Amino acid sequence: MTIYPSHYINGQWIAAQSAETFAVHDSSTEEVMATVPAGTADEARAAVQAAHAAFPAWAALSVETRAVFLEKVSAGLKARIDEMATTIAREVGMPVKLAKPVQVAGPVWNWANFAKVAREFEWEETVPGPYGQSLVVREPIGVVGCITPWNFPLNQITLKVAPALAAGCTVVLKPSEIAPVNAMILAEIIHEAGLPPGVFNLVNGAGPVVGEVLATDPLVDMVSFTGSTRAGKRVGELASQSVKRVALELGGKSASVILPDADLEAAVKGTISACMLNSGQTCSAHTRMLVPVGRYEEVKTLVHAALAKFTPGPSLQDTSKLGPLVSAAQRDRVLGFIGLGLKEGAELMAGGAARPSGEKGYFVSPTVLRVQPKDSLAHDEIFGPVLVVITYNDEDEAIRIANDTIYGLGGGVWSSDTAHAIAVARRIRTGQIDINGGPFNGNAPFGGYKQSGNGRENGRYGFEEFLEFKSLQLKAAS
Ligand code: NAD
Repeated sequence: MTIYPSHYINGQWIAAQSAETFAVHDSSTEEVMATVPAGTADEARAAVQAAHAAFPAWAALSVETRAVFLEKVSAGLKARIDEMATTIAREVGMPVKLAKPVQVAGPVWNWANFAKVAREFEWEETVPGPYGQSLVVREPIGVVGCITPWNFPLNQITLKVAPALAAGCTVVLKPSEIAPVNAMILAEIIHEAGLPPGVFNLVNGAGPVVGEVLATDPLVDMVSFTGSTRAGKRVGELASQSVKRVALELGGKSASVILPDADLEAAVKGTISACMLNSGQTCSAHTRMLVPVGRYEEVKTLVHAALAKFTPGPSLQDTSKLGPLVSAAQRDRVLGFIGLGLKEGAELMAGGAARPSGEKGYFVSPTVLRVQPKDSLAHDEIFGPVLVVITYNDEDEAIRIANDTIYGLGGGVWSSDTAHAIAVARRIRTGQIDINGGPFNGNAPFGGYKQSGNGRENGRYGFEEFLEFKSLQLKAAS
């Protein structure tokens, strides 16, 4: 077990004030693998002050100098990729063979990519007007508070911290208290990259303590939050008191719409993969599969075939394709949802069980249920390996069901006619749609419509979130 006794504030590891800690569990063995300190409000405020003091000098550096720092962090992460993948596999439960490409290679690429985005960015432009012209310049917004979740922990941290630093902002990070070890390793890498003191700070701790300081402290200019819609609303409310910019990346209940002319086998396989990745603990997971009513029996057979490849097992075992859930609480929550679905009359197509008691690991078997559009499971974000199947009669009804959610984060459309799939995708109110299983693109904007959030992450779109506009009004030349 590793004991982390400190927070990272103003370029130094500072011993925690409180003896209180958070225990981090290996989700496959249930053992305590590490502890991190529970930060206090004072520690959070000290980190904010350090970030505030460091801002003017960091913002004044050339883009090139900042970009080189980001590339050093990318290289540092790459050098520790195996350690990082093992850490996240243990904290979160994703099998290590998947965690390496999905949870760590993405951040390695993103740290370097945000350096490139900053270098290529048009930082100013001349805008003509009726009486004169303006020089419109982009400037960093200031101190950014970053609050992140446990499910793709390093990725969510990277999508905030890397573009914020590239833009010239300084940062205080509060990682998830459930999977914080990866963040501690990242802080070591950032320290070794030699960033000036105060540019990056990390305070561990509880959301209502450290997170709420970041949402309220007047020295914080922007809060970038990823997590549940419930906590995101609270952060937004608090941040409004000092009129901070707020970026929210929240929950989802994304629909995979399988149109009648789709390659059914590919569509069912693709949807199940997009649902079960990370044991369903993915904000943009395709957790509702919409199928033509006449194809339901075929779908049932295909579901069983597709699930067969999701071999459950401990996250460090090479043969595992589906790991445990992150925690006992998450496992119990997911089992509660399955119970609720069955009570409401859902048809259990597959799975539905936890691992027999006595065996270690927070496992839930991959589960597929047929539900009706009005049922709770057609609406609630479950955040586990649970797919619901909903049948529809015609395309308009499919689109209506897809849109019948408070969320709007991801989704998919499957059809043998790509143009038709795109036309259907345009009618779905969501931030990202995979056409026939189109792959994730780290340069395309990612974020939510409706209660899935505000703002976008990834590439240039994510970078611009951390910038202000300034208009310098110029007289027309006489
Ligand atoms: P969570 O809301 O419980 O916690 C997220 C972070 O917010 C943690 O660091 C937590 O400590 C902090 N927090 C909690 N209460 C707070 C408060 N009152 N003030 C300030 N901070 C507070 O979410 P989670 O369980 O860690 O993550 C799962 C959720 O995150 C799911 O709903 C998922 O859909 C969502 N998510 C969204 C995206 C996205 O990009 N849209 C990505 C990943 C996860």
